[in-house]
Amino acid sequence: MTATSDTRRAIIRIAQEMDRLGFAPSKSGNVSARTPQGFLVTPSALPYARTKPADIVHLDLDGKIIAGKRPPSSEWRFHAAIYRARPEVNAVMHNHSPRATALSCARRGIPAFHYMIAISGGHNIRCASYATFGTQDLADRAVCALRDRTATLLANHGVIALGTTLDAAFAVAKEVENLAGQYLDILAAGLEPVILDKTEMKRVLAQFATYGREG
Ligand SMILES: [Zn+2]
Repeated sequence: MTATSDTRRAIIRIAQEMDRLGFAPSKSGNVSARTPQGFLVTPSALPYARTKPADIVHLDLDGKIIAGKRPPSSEWRFHAAIYRARPEVNAVMHNHSPRATALSCARRGIPAFHYMIAISGGHNIRCASYATFGTQDLADRAVCALRDRTATLLANHGVIALGTTLDAAFAVAKEVENLAGQYLDILAAGLEPVILDKTEMKRVLAQFATYGREG
């Protein structure tokens, strides 16, 4: 088995788990992993439960198909743009997880109301300004909102999460959904969240860097 075929299987495992969690309504979302030549990405319009390793599409960073019979995800442009802009990133997950997507429709990011916001690599998770799905404009806005971060919301759309591995990107995506749900609950209760200040968030980020996450 080659490294590429292992990566194809890992992409399918993550996409199916994402689907089981309800993060991919109407077969939304897509998952990719970097390769030496470009990246492997889930195909367009194929249910994750039926996706086989050969269905995963291999693209270079210009979007040219290296291998694969199926069309790539319609969002291949932001995957390519992220791999170009972020050499440390090896995996990209995009989903429409319900609570984070609801927040994105208000075009609101998530502030440091909970210290776990540090999973994003900073003191907040931004919401990228709106652009039509599948466009280069959306890719450019996503890269901008992801500056110094491993996650962003996309206005009226969903979430992008990044990682050095597929599992790391998925862990970020799950925490973004958790944080979005908690933030919406606070707002729905009519409460005003207390936002951790930048000094405290610097301490939290240093703890994350030194010890990893609590628990
Ligand atoms: Zn989407």
